[in-house]
Parts: sequence; structure tokens; C-alpha cells
Amino acid sequence: MYQPGVGDALDALDTPAMIVDLTLMDDNIGRLMERFRVRNVRVRPHLKTVKSPELALRLLAAGAVGGCVAKVSEAEVMAEGGIEDLLITTEIVGRPKLARLVDLLRKHSLIKVVVDSVEGARALDAAVGAANLEAKVLLDLNVGQDRCGVTPGEEALELARQIGEMEHLQLIGVQGYEGHLQHIHDPQERQRRCQQAMQTLTGTAEQLRTAGFPIQIVTTGGTGTAEFCADFDGITEVQPGSFVFMDTDYRNALGGVYSNALTVLATVISRPTPNRAIIDAGLKSLSIDSGMAEPKGWEQLAYQPKGDEHGALVWRDEADADQELPLRIGDRVEMIPSHIDTTINLHDTYYAYRDGRIEAIWPISARGKVQ
Ligand code: PLP
Ligand code: MN
Repeated sequence: MYQPGVGDALDALDTPAMIVDLTLMDDNIGRLMERFRVRNVRVRPHLKTVKSPELALRLLAAGAVGGCVAKVSEAEVMAEGGIEDLLITTEIVGRPKLARLVDLLRKHSLIKVVVDSVEGARALDAAVGAANLEAKVLLDLNVGQDRCGVTPGEEALELARQIGEMEHLQLIGVQGYEGHLQHIHDPQERQRRCQQAMQTLTGTAEQLRTAGFPIQIVTTGGTGTAEFCADFDGITEVQPGSFVFMDTDYRNALGGVYSNALTVLATVISRPTPNRAIIDAGLKSLSIDSGMAEPKGWEQLAYQPKGDEHGALVWRDEADADQELPLRIGDRVEMIPSHIDTTINLHDTYYAYRDGRIEAIWPISARGKVQ
């Protein structure tokens, strides 16, 4: 079978292929780590972005204290790959999922989970208790995203009291993720609203401590807010993920703080008219939930998905429509994803390169791990 390898030039790759510019990626990681090192706040990157234990280990080597994962199935992949200190950031509900979690906790006792309801906590307590185990839990708090999370204040305290009475659960922290603020373009507005959310989060952590709970972890923050979070007293760790590769959605909101380090390499397979080039990357290669991918280096061109396997590149400005597009059949174009997490989930492999040559090939082992 045809298989490009380490040392090959990028043009050995069949397309569509997801390629990573290692210089830019290492720079993104180094820059972020440095920002939090000087603030004395730990970094627990959200591994839902990279979905690869190899990359998670690289993040640990760069200074991360562990990782976040969204789901138990992601935790399975990461724990198997050698990442022990994991926080599962989504509530774990239902017998099948609890059974998987218990299996995982038997071997990986550093895994932590979040709870936001008495029902959820009771079921977790019963499941781990039946296996003679304990679970370290964080209270998941709604700091304004209105997704999961117990309401701050008395409801949060009451849930903590109930957890405190459960024999097999150990309450060690609070999570409050402000996902609704990540992409606010105006940095002052983003900061102001983030500070409100952090006030809520750290205020509740303090209330819990006053009530006698040993809250050690106060975790929050994504790529758009983590620095604002870290500047707030009482935040112990941040959990950004997208900064590793970035995407056009984050670039549009944040500017050039981090670079777009990942693209999908595509080939022009058809030129049906002078002003339309068709590439071999459609909905199965590039997600469109956060807008359209952009052809790198071709600012004057726009991408339009044309079904599962095809995409069109056309002039962005209609006034140019009678001009000939400067792309030929066989040309290659790098597409910058609009949303990195959902795009990576479509692919099996990262081809990481430096100076035009493939330096590493990493399987995306946690792709599709949505359970
Ligand atoms: N924490 C939680 C709970 C999340 O759901 C996410 C992403 O959705 C993140 C952190 C990381 O955010 P980002 O990839 O935007 O940096
Ligand atoms: Mn995302």
C-alpha cells in the first residue's frame, strides 16, 4: 500500500491530508506555557482539540500538569497513552458510562470527574463504591454559559454538602467554564465579562472553603479567556485547547496571538470554468459549523463546500468574477479550518512537518470518541 513516511517531502502526501507546521505549533505551545508560568497558574490543556496521546505528551513535556478530556472514551485513549492526571470535564451519566469510568479508575486513580447534580453524584458514588474505589470530584458551576453546571451560591453549597456525605466521593475542586465568552471580538468586553465569571467562580470556591470543603483546584478558561482568568486571584489552573493549532474563528476574535499551525492540504481536481476551481476537500474534510475554511495565501479567494467530497474556490469579490482563477488542475492548496476541534475529528492522521519535510506522523486516536 502507498504510504508516505518520515523524511518525505509534503508532496508525497495524498490529499486531503491534515498537515501541521511544527515550528508554528511549538511556538504556540511555548508561548502559552510561558504566559502561565510567569503567572504561577497551572495549565491543563483540553485534549478534545488534539485528540492524540503523542501530542498530549508533548504538551506535558512543555509544562502542562495534565489534561482535560470531554468524555470517558477520550479519557480511555489518553490514559492508555500514558497521560495519568486527567479531568473529565463533562458530567458522567448512565450505567454504561459509569461502568466504563469505574474500569478506568481501577487502573488510573488520578482521573477526576465533574458533577452538577445530586442524582449524578449519588449514581457515581454507588458505582465507585461497588468497586471499592473512590472518585475525586469537582463541582461543575454555571458561570454564565448556561450549559451544564450547578447554580452558584446556595444551590452549589447544598450540592457540596450532599456530596460531603457520600462515602466514596472526595470533593477537591470547582470547574466553571465560560465557553460563551471565548469568541467575543472586543478584548475589553471579553475581559470584563470574564472577570464577572471569575468573580462567581472564585467566590463560590471561597464559600465552599469557609463551609469546610478542601477546595484545591479552581479550573476554567479557554484559548480566548485563559489569560484573563489567570490574572484573577484564586484561579489555580486553566484549560485552553485550541491554541495548539488555532483556526480562523479564533484568529478573527483574537488576532495574531497564536498562529494557524494546522491546515488541510487539498488538490485542485477540476477547473470547469475559468472562475471556479474544485478541490477534493468537502464536508468530510473541513467542518463548517463556525463558518468556512480559508485557502492559505489566497486571501482573494473564498471556499464553498460542494458536498461531502468536493469544495469550490471562487473569487471573494464578485467584481472579479470574469477573471481567470490563478489555479490549475493538480495544484495544491492549504485550507485553514474555521473550527479546529470538529475538523480534526474528521481525520485519521496528523502529518507534522518542518522545512517542507514530514517529521512525525501521529494517529488521531481519540477521533470519534464522543461517548
Ligand atoms: N474547557 C471546556 C470545559 C471546554 O468545553 C472547552 C472547549 O470547548 C475548553 C476548555 C477549551 O476551549 P478552547 O478549545 O476554546 O481553548
Ligand atoms: Mn471548539
